[in-house]
Amino acid sequence: LAQLYGPLNQLGFMYRSINQSLVDTEKLLELLNQPKDVHDKDDAATLVVDGGEIEFDNVSFSYDNRTTALDGVSFKVPKGSSVALVGESGAGKSTILRLLYRFYDLPEGGGRILIDGQDIRDVTQKSLRAAIGVVPQDCVLFNTSIAYNIGYGKFNASSEEIEEAATSAQMHERITHFPDVNSMLQVGERGVRLSGGEKQRVAIARYIYRNSSGALDTSTEKDIQKALLNLMQGRSSLSIAHRLSTIASADVILVLKDGRIVEHGTHAELLALDGVFASMWADQVSTSGDALASTMQP
Ligand code: ATP
Repeated sequence: LAQLYGPLNQLGFMYRSINQSLVDTEKLLELLNQPKDVHDKDDAATLVVDGGEIEFDNVSFSYDNRTTALDGVSFKVPKGSSVALVGESGAGKSTILRLLYRFYDLPEGGGRILIDGQDIRDVTQKSLRAAIGVVPQDCVLFNTSIAYNIGYGKFNASSEEIEEAATSAQMHERITHFPDVNSMLQVGERGVRLSGGEKQRVAIARYIYRNSSGALDTSTEKDIQKALLNLMQGRSSLSIAHRLSTIASADVILVLKDGRIVEHGTHAELLALDGVFASMWADQVSTSGDALASTMQP
């Protein structure tokens, strides 16, 4: 299985028409499986998405009221820009995404998370979740059928379920030429025979398949389809990367350490700074055999 999970996939959250934050697949699934214990306010409004700027304003958070997961984190993801989160294990990267998705509410005095100026605690979870979809960016596919790629990780994947997921992800027109799911289009090494958009759809289908228990309700399906329609438009992104080479082109890289942002800047600026990021980069180039990172080394 380890081999199957191979290189980290990048998947993400997408604000309809706007934002995308990228996480690797395992992270994503872990994120989505978190229990949610938040409640709408009586007067909760509907989130109005207008541009999709995300702002973390002095956010502090602890899971257990003892250890600090985030400590005074402030940053913005302006519309159309890409922000990447890096940091060693436990630095707080996933916590940022969990909080954005509102798996937990920030405590009083714990700062604010705003989407287009609206505190996510003041809007309905329904409108927040409707506005957030999960969208893969650079999906790593296995060199086998699309059906396998959609259903992987689950034994006894039924053809109907896979087809349903494929349909929801608008993959269906691509697969109807094939008599059954198991003879669906074979994808090449890392899915090279599929376009970027098609790869994204496969990964969306994978996401839908893995996260649906039974049929998708129509509003979810419509939301996903709307999100898909907007997928190719310019959008801002928030990503987590373990392979640093994957986020070298981010507009801003935030370096987290012990729940705080300790460095920020472009890849080049951070290398020049010769601090935490530069040493992570050097480690990764020397220990991981990250070919891309090696070739990108100045
Ligand atoms: P990794 O790269 O290993 O995924 P990360 O940067 O995403 O790490 P987080 O998962 O955000 O780190 O964790 C931040 C801190 O919060 C860590 O100290 C972690 O142990 C703690 N933490 C994370 N999830 C929980 C939880 N469910 N309950 C208690 N503490 C948690």
